[in-house]
Parts: sequence; C-alpha cells; structure tokens
Amino acid sequence: MTTQAESGRGDSRHIAIVGAGVIGMATACCLQEDGHRVTVVDWQAPGMGCSWGNSGGLGVTSIPPLSSPGVLRKVPGWLFDPNGPLALKWSHLPRLAPWLLRFARAGRMEEVERITDAMNALLSPSYEVWRPLFSAAGLDNLVHHTGVIHLYTDRAAFEGDALQWKLRKDRGIPYETIDREALLRMEPDIGPAYNFAVYEEVWRHVGDPFLIVDGLARHFAAQGGEIRRAAVTGFDSADGKVTALRTESGTIAADDFVVAAGAWSHRLSKMLGSPAPQESQRGYHVGLPNPGVEVRHIMMDTVGKHAITPMVMGLRLGGTSEFAGLDSPPNWRRARAIVENAKRIFPGLNTEGYSQWAGDRPLLPDSMPVIGPSPHRRNVYYAFGHSHIGLASGAVTGRAVSDLIAGRNPALDLHPFRIDRF
Ligand SMILES: Cc1cc2nc3c(=O)[nH]c(=O)nc-3n(C[C@H](O)[C@H](O)[C@H](O)COP(=O)(O)OP(=O)(O)OC[C@H]3O[C@@H](n4cnc5c(N)ncnc54)[C@H](O)[C@@H]3O)c2cc1C
Repeated sequence: MTTQAESGRGDSRHIAIVGAGVIGMATACCLQEDGHRVTVVDWQAPGMGCSWGNSGGLGVTSIPPLSSPGVLRKVPGWLFDPNGPLALKWSHLPRLAPWLLRFARAGRMEEVERITDAMNALLSPSYEVWRPLFSAAGLDNLVHHTGVIHLYTDRAAFEGDALQWKLRKDRGIPYETIDREALLRMEPDIGPAYNFAVYEEVWRHVGDPFLIVDGLARHFAAQGGEIRRAAVTGFDSADGKVTALRTESGTIAADDFVVAAGAWSHRLSKMLGSPAPQESQRGYHVGLPNPGVEVRHIMMDTVGKHAITPMVMGLRLGGTSEFAGLDSPPNWRRARAIVENAKRIFPGLNTEGYSQWAGDRPLLPDSMPVIGPSPHRRNVYYAFGHSHIGLASGAVTGRAVSDLIAGRNPALDLHPFRIDRF
C-alpha cells in the first residue's frame, strides 16, 4: 500500500468525510489509497456509533429486504410479545406512519425481487473487497470463516420462511438444511427447543466490530490521514458546490465531501436539498464474558431475530428492532428480552456479569443504503443507510465512493442506491 505522499495516481484532492463509523473509515481508507488527502470528522472517536456493538457478521446473503408480502401480518404478533423481535414507541407512530407506508410498498413481490438483486450485487463481493483492507490494516486475525447457522424450532418454521430461502436460491446462493442430530454435531450445547437449521458456509464473522473500525482508523492515521473530533452542524456552499463543513469549532474546507454519518445522515442530506426517509432501527446487544456454553459459529435465531456471535470479549447476543425515534433513550427491557430468548437456545447460558448496549441502525424503507452523488451539490457524495449490513458492505461502499470521486466507473451499479429514489 502507498502513502498519501507517495502516491502520484490520478488527481489528488482533499476530501472531508462526516462520520467515522465502519462506512466512513472504509471510505477514508479507499480514498487514501487513491492518493487523496482525507479528513474524517466525527463528534466521537472512530467506531463509537452503531459500528461499535454490532453482531460482527459479514452477512453476504442478507439480501432480501426486511419488508416482504407476508411481513405486515406478522407485525401485531411481534409487537404484543414483550420478548418479540420488534418494538415500537407508540408516541413515535404518527411520525413513523409515512415511512411505514413506504416500507409496506417495498414488500410488493416485484420490489422484493428488484431489491434482492441490488443487494446481492452490493454484498456478494463483500469479502473480496474487504480482504486487502483488512490485510493492510493488520486485521486478518479478527476475521473467522466458520459460516452461519440459522436456527429454527422445526422444519415447519423453516418452511414458513420459504420466500427468504427461495430469493437466495434463485440467485445461486447455496445453503444446506440440517436436522437436530447434525446441528448437535456442529453446536453441542443447543437445547431441545431447536430441531432444525440452515447452514450457509459463505458467511464470515469478526471477533469485534469496534476493533475493525479502530484498526482501520489507526491504519488511516499512520498513512497520514487526519481524524478531527467535531460535530458537523452545516455546510458552506457556493456555485452549486459545498466549500466547507461547519462545525462548532470552525469550518473545514475541502474539495469533495462524503456524508457517512450513519443514522444521523438524513439530517445532513436535508440541509443539502436531499431529504431521505431514514429511521433509526435501534438494536441492542448483551455481552456475556463467561457464557458457560461453547459456541463455534455465528448463529441467527429466527424466532427472536437476533444473532449469537463468539467474540473476543466472550459471547455477544445482538439484534432486534425498535422504532422509537433517533433521540429517544434506550429501553433496556429490549436487551433483557434477548437474554430470555437466548436461554431457550442455550439452557445452560451463564449471564453473570453481562453488559448491554444499544445502537441506531440507519434504515431506509426499502432496506437499501444510499450510495452515490448528491443531485444538488456537485462535490458531495452519500454513503449511509446500511441498516443491518453496514459491516458486511462497508468496503464495497467505500470502493464505490472512491471510484466516483476518481471518475472511474464503479463496479457496482449505483442506480438502485441513489438518494432521490423515494
Ligand atoms: C444490534 C445490531 C447488530 C448488527 N449486526 C450487524 C452485523 O452482524 N453485520 C453487519 O454488517 N451489520 C450489522 N449491524 C449494522 C451495522 O452496525 C451498521 O449498519 C453500521 O454500523 C453502520 O455504520 P455507519 O458507519 O453508517 O454508522 P455509525 O457507526 O453509526 O457511524 C456514524 C458516525 O457518524 C457520526 N456522526 C453523525 N452525525 C455527525 C455529525 N453531524 N457530525 C460529526 N459526526 C457525526 C457518529 O458519531 C458516528 O460515529 C448491526 C446493528 C445493530 C444495532
């Protein structure tokens, strides 16, 4: 890898990125590789937003949208189950209603097929694009290739998810169904409630998603990249271009700008003439330092809709969805619900010394991120809205943005991800 000073490739520019999460830092590293001077601006240290506490899955097959023809029928059951996978702050409902209508529209079958194709294009090269970045940043030892196990109570529950699996199969993604006996050979501590599973070999997971972002940030800084601690409050513009970021401690001028501010991005894009219907899909995790059970794979619980990931710190149980608005305080009952679900999977689970965390997934109604140029400012690019696949798609996103800024044709067709699609 070349340093910014060494690289003479192309037209070297100064690029300012808002957001030092996995998307901002992956983008920063890609731009730096192209020989640009890059400044990343965040009000907190790199990786302290949603990227801190995710489940660590490089979930390259998470391609169907969250909305589907059957999903709305399941919502009341989920909402009225206190340990269910979905929660809503009822006072947020009036603000959420227009978003929900769009979400329902994204669940029409022709939309589901179109979105699944676009997400497959985004996610299928995930690891191929991450690999050189992980290696350059010395992070290979955090990446594990064990595949993922999706846990079902029985075959009937698996058959109830038929559409999800058909969408993958139609796109050539292989999976293997496994009975309880085979499941126990792979994961001996699973309790009697789970009798069927699906194994996907292609997934990888990381031992700590924060250490990935932190490692990228350290690598970026070691190559001469600048990380500034400040809240971006607005933009200075002239002649259809942004000239500087406004922060509470002065302005930051640059040639080009990237908005990669996760769940807060729509507030910034709106200032630039591009409102985006983004909601916080808050998730929670529980960390168990001494789980008392052996877990060999990342696993997805299809009942509680959360992941179980063996990590550096112990076992992480992470997931669920809460729609309460970005500024609402966490509801820690949601984290306890994850523990209750996990005890059904692992009756021998030891929860002593558990830690809890909440993070705001940036979610657009069609479950697809926004990646591409601003229609209103010639030198602004967007990279946000990565919902439950930000870690998986970080490098592909960063590469696409760096291709755009370099004037190269991105390998990924960005049309489905444009900001003005709503
Ligand atoms: C429980 C849970 C489990 C998950 N599991 C997975 C998984 O297994 N695999 C996967 O791929 N994804 C997973 N995700 C999703 C993933 O974590 C997100 O998609 C990803 O972290 C989004 O990254 P980001 O960089 O866009 O946002 P963030 O990490 O939130 O970074 C955005 C940054 O922008 C900064 N910022 C915002 N506004 C401003 C401003 N005005 N000025 C300065 N700074 C600003 C914030 O401080 C923040 O640091 C999970 C999420 C949750 C909640």
